Amino acid sequence: MKVRYFDHAATTPVREEVIKEMIPYLGEQYGNASAMYSLGRNARKAINKARGQVAKAINCNPHEIYFTSCGSESDNLAIKGFAYANHDKGNHIITSKIEHHAVLDTCKTLEKQGFKVTYLNVNENGFVDLQELVNSITPNTILISIMFANNEIGTIEPIEKIGEIAKQRNIVFHTDAVQAIGNVRIDVKKLNIDMLSMSGHKFYAPKGVGALYVKNGVKFNKLQDGGEQENNKRAGTENVAEIVGIGKAIELIYNEYDEYNNKLNNLRNYFFDEVTKNIPDVKINGDLEKRLPGNANVSFKGKNGSEILLKLDEAGICASAGSACSTANPMPSNVLTAIGLKQEFLDGALRFSFGKDNTKEDVDYLVQNLQQIVK
Ligand SMILES: *Cc1c(COP(=O)(O)O)cnc(C)c1O
Repeated sequence: MKVRYFDHAATTPVREEVIKEMIPYLGEQYGNASAMYSLGRNARKAINKARGQVAKAINCNPHEIYFTSCGSESDNLAIKGFAYANHDKGNHIITSKIEHHAVLDTCKTLEKQGFKVTYLNVNENGFVDLQELVNSITPNTILISIMFANNEIGTIEPIEKIGEIAKQRNIVFHTDAVQAIGNVRIDVKKLNIDMLSMSGHKFYAPKGVGALYVKNGVKFNKLQDGGEQENNKRAGTENVAEIVGIGKAIELIYNEYDEYNNKLNNLRNYFFDEVTKNIPDVKINGDLEKRLPGNANVSFKGKNGSEILLKLDEAGICASAGSACSTANPMPSNVLTAIGLKQEFLDGALRFSFGKDNTKEDVDYLVQNLQQIVK
């Protein structure tokens, strides 16, 4: 059966061009990037090229990019690494209730270690309240960590304003941009972002490679001891092939940015139109305007989302209930709870996230199946 994939917020397929670029580094170019001989220097050059590609996409200096193994590691390194290096300046961190668990659980760990964390509320569309943010700031606040865009409902936070608020008060601003990279144009200088996390597999690079941007001058501790790779901030022999992959993938996606965004916006809006027209009692979750182009989160009132997903799977359709990261977790999603979704809409919430290979015909097939299943 043909697979129709609508779960790009969980992960994306690796692009052909990316695989092609990586293959030499899985084969004959196997050198250790720390070595002196040319085989090692080739690996070093490839990593530096990728560092440049990532830096260019977000408008920073290549020396401000640190490669990691994933988005979760980038979030841990940014938040814990910064907290440990700066606890003499204060022990208060501000984040939101709708962060990914890579941020939320990192903050929970820091709380056990004596840090104080404020978890900001969001309104019914998933926006943090800037007044609440300002009111939460104390002389002990050292870090604000607010995600660029939410992985479940696609809401894009007022990042530029948060950056301003942080800058005016000399507080460092980290953003988990794992969902936003590739979908939103990001200029870290213009937005006053001091640290930013990304993950390759959310934008058509392979799983197992991420990056963290840390502005020059922002102090953070390494979390892993060993070699001096990544400017002595992340020990471990570099994963050259995957680093080459993330560099190529980010370059490709930003070169095709307008086309990609228009396509996803149109497909997503077409889905919203069709699903609300053909199925009764459908509620769209999240904001309609400030939203990731490929994200659709909808509730089928009074229905069970997992049951719908199983039936969709039988029809070759991949989608996600609430958040893909918590299929093993029967607890209701922290995001849908935080936006105050009523029980009758909570259980029947599904996320469809579109990608570059989806077509209108795929969306028609999806809506037809949904219509039958929900009836
Ligand atoms: C997927 C995701 C992560 C985790 O990234 P991994 O590379 O899977 O560790 C973190 N934050 C957000 C918002 C995500 O969507």
